[in-house]
Amino acid sequence: MRTAAERRELLKAVYEEARVCTRCPLHQTRTTVVFGSGNADADLMFIGEAPGANEDRMGLPFVGQAGKLLDKLLDEIGLERKDVFVANTLKCRPPDNRDPHPKEIEACQGYLRSQVDLIEPVVICTLGNFATKLLRADTTGISRLHGREEVRVIGSRAVRLFPLYHPAAALYTRTMLETLRTDFHRIPELLALGAPEQPRPVQPIPEVDEEPIPEAEELVMAAEPRPAPQLGLF
Ligand code: URA
Repeated sequence: MRTAAERRELLKAVYEEARVCTRCPLHQTRTTVVFGSGNADADLMFIGEAPGANEDRMGLPFVGQAGKLLDKLLDEIGLERKDVFVANTLKCRPPDNRDPHPKEIEACQGYLRSQVDLIEPVVICTLGNFATKLLRADTTGISRLHGREEVRVIGSRAVRLFPLYHPAAALYTRTMLETLRTDFHRIPELLALGAPEQPRPVQPIPEVDEEPIPEAEELVMAAEPRPAPQLGLF
């Protein structure tokens, strides 16, 4: 089990790598890499879509209107940003806020996997379609999945995955906002369940003591005819 300080240091190392990333063409148009922010030791993680214009300028996730709504919903369940970790599927802004391309998601997903591995959250809330589809490795959309928790293994870690509507979508649709709020208010109950049972770590194959090389005499003895195997004993 890592300490909070160890997690922070390891996350910083991943950030240093992401900060200068050129794995996809978005590095040519970004202002800043938006790695994610919050508590490296958090039990609760939110994963959005991609930085927008404000995030690209400031280098922090969810600092615009959608972020204000996220803060409000967190406040309603007694949490603040410093209690959680917030990241995005893409770490760089797609031009004109267009949808992420599959190749960009693929190029970027290693950073998200490392973040989940290092933070070891109990609950991951995916916000909207892109994060939900990526973490579930499935094309089912958010309108069918929101508010339905499930245990999923992400990397080496089993987590409680809880898809939610994206706050940006809820900004303009009253009914979606109410649905998001209802789902959001279930987060404390999921956190209280604690981490799900973890997959067993893969056991390293034990080293077999090497047999000493037999002397010539023993080899002759071993070569003597053996009793014929009985039927069924193969
Ligand atoms: N929308 C997102 O998905 N992420 C952000 O960081 C901001 C808006």
